[in-house]
Amino acid sequence: MKARDKVLIVDDSDINRSLLADMLAQDYDLVEAANGLEAVALLSQQYSEISLVLLDIVMPMMDGFEVLASMNKSGYIDHIPVIMISAETSSVYIDHAYDLGAAEYISRPFDEKTVKRRVKNTIMLYAKQKYLENMVTEQLLEKEKNNLVMVEILSHIVEFRNGESGLHVMHIRVITEALLKQLCRMTDRYNLTPEQIAMISNASALHDIGKISIPESILNKPGKLTPQEYDIIKTHSAIGAEMLEKIHYFETEPLVQVARNICRWHHERYDGRGYPDGLKGEEIPISAQVVSLADVYDALVSVRVYKAAYTHEEAMRMILNGECGTFNPLLLECLKEAGPTLKKELKVRSLSGASRIELQDMARNLIQSGNASNRTLALLEQERTKYQFFASMSKEIQFEYNYHSDLLSISEWGAAQLGVNEVIMHPLQNSQIQKLFSSADFEDFLAKIRTAQPEDPILSGTYPLQVKGSSRWFKVVARPLWVMEESSELTGVIGKFIDVHDEQVELDQLKQMAKIDSLTGLFNRAYAKRAMDTILNNEADASQNYALLVFDIDFFKSANDEYGHLFGDQVLANVAHRIQSNVRQSDISARIGGDEFLIFMEYKDHLEQMIERIFRSLNGSYQGYDITVSMGIACFPNDGSDYLTLFHHADQALYAAKRRGRRQYCLYDDSMQDLLTGVSTK
Ligand code: GH3
Ligand code: MG
Repeated sequence: MKARDKVLIVDDSDINRSLLADMLAQDYDLVEAANGLEAVALLSQQYSEISLVLLDIVMPMMDGFEVLASMNKSGYIDHIPVIMISAETSSVYIDHAYDLGAAEYISRPFDEKTVKRRVKNTIMLYAKQKYLENMVTEQLLEKEKNNLVMVEILSHIVEFRNGESGLHVMHIRVITEALLKQLCRMTDRYNLTPEQIAMISNASALHDIGKISIPESILNKPGKLTPQEYDIIKTHSAIGAEMLEKIHYFETEPLVQVARNICRWHHERYDGRGYPDGLKGEEIPISAQVVSLADVYDALVSVRVYKAAYTHEEAMRMILNGECGTFNPLLLECLKEAGPTLKKELKVRSLSGASRIELQDMARNLIQSGNASNRTLALLEQERTKYQFFASMSKEIQFEYNYHSDLLSISEWGAAQLGVNEVIMHPLQNSQIQKLFSSADFEDFLAKIRTAQPEDPILSGTYPLQVKGSSRWFKVVARPLWVMEESSELTGVIGKFIDVHDEQVELDQLKQMAKIDSLTGLFNRAYAKRAMDTILNNEADASQNYALLVFDIDFFKSANDEYGHLFGDQVLANVAHRIQSNVRQSDISARIGGDEFLIFMEYKDHLEQMIERIFRSLNGSYQGYDITVSMGIACFPNDGSDYLTLFHHADQALYAAKRRGRRQYCLYDDSMQDLLTGVSTK
């Protein structure tokens, strides 16, 4: 049964209080105060229990208005409704009471029915309002949390692929926040609220998300990038923005919009010499300006595949000298001001990240050497309990495996989640575990454990698990424990499962988007290159023949000029359709530029026949408009054995075809060698 509401009756007349009490005693718990002072004291003691106040106006010591004023000051007035009761019927009094936040006004003499009804309605109304308020805050909190989880997971995926430590995202966030706060102290030009600062800092984590579409070989190349590779890297900002524009939260989520701006413009430069849009000065949103500076600073002070770490002082000198781009002078001031804080904060943060493992290592050594005191053991036990407690609150699926006893234990919540027992003997032979993983995945995971090294002990993998009859993606993070860190004898494995199903599904969609050109549904250039690289590096041997066809629509500008851009788009889609109806599933076809396409296909013999057929199918009429193309062809292995050479030669042949009057194809031969020299292969 619901607890009874409590009503506070404030009146200096005994008899009035008694009357009111008689009317309400049946339905409510009651407390009484004989003047304003007593009322205020009672309110502060029983604030959370009182559901309503009945308040007289004229009283000695402290009158009703003063009580209202005090409730305003303490904020109680927002949560506890007040009904005024008075013989005063002048509107001056009544208005004043309402102004001070009173909910109702009952004039004397009052009858039982009126009092009961008003009290009941007022309490109900406030309760409903409170419920709604709670719901809204809960939803906001929930949403905020979901956003953060999503942001965190996506950005870490990008980072791990990037060969970065995983700290970069956290650093960028810290630096961005510090710079924005400093900026607010120095100017109000940008009108930034604390909410916006938080949002920009959170969104900063997504700045490099477009790198998902950059081939790993370029991303993690230790040496200097070639200009072509650098051009490919540079596409990540526009691609990241495009990916975010396409997710269905884009319209409604300011966070995603801010993230999109950051993605697209974090490589713009204040002097207009950045990419992709060459924006200048304040044309670049402040969010992107700040993240850009944060990114440069953190890149300098961190280790990367291509460089060692600079000190804070060296980094500051390089940035202020303009060696790393040009920035808003005001932001440089902010960086100077925030410098000492950053230096401290970043170091502190990276250390505390390592402390848990360090603590475990120290503890294990102590215990093994027999030197751990009871106090240390007790503290360790406490630490463990604390960790388990937090883990159960954060709903983690933890596990611990002991080699000696061949026993796997899983946290209570986790076991329920996975639908397996909490304690499992001989897990390798256990049917519950065997059902959870596919055998190949399980083997993969075990191999990771076997090959982990003490210098780099944390391993992870993302696998589809069969949980209670359906398949869900989980990330497994684990750490083997060794007898001594330098020995190879394992004593156990600790770790946890994280349900990343929703994120994984969304990520797959994003990845799909990153490889597909949205207008034509063909692969985009980056993906086509990656797919060709795979074939050329791994599958092709010199006995196989492949042809690379690069072609460009003739006079396509005129289609746009005469019939409009939308019609132009339809022509492009039509060409894509023609391509798809004339190549095999195993061929690679892509849109590689505005009106440029490529097809990469294997052939046995009769090359000319095949090309003739494809070439003819690409030319034709679309809604009365004559589509013709010019095409250049280079073959593997004769004209080149890697993507860049083949592409360059096909491009030269295409150029020759254009020069010879268009609407034709040319096979590459050495006489074309001098065409397009000095022009990069795009
Ligand atoms: P050429 O025979 O020398 O190829 O002449 P062209 O007019 O086709 O010239 P070019 O290939 O250099 O021009 C390509 C044009 O394609 C320029 C641009 O206006 C147009 N274009 C690029 N992307 C798109 C697009 O997504 N949609 C539309 N409608 N037009 C595009
Ligand atoms: Mg063209």
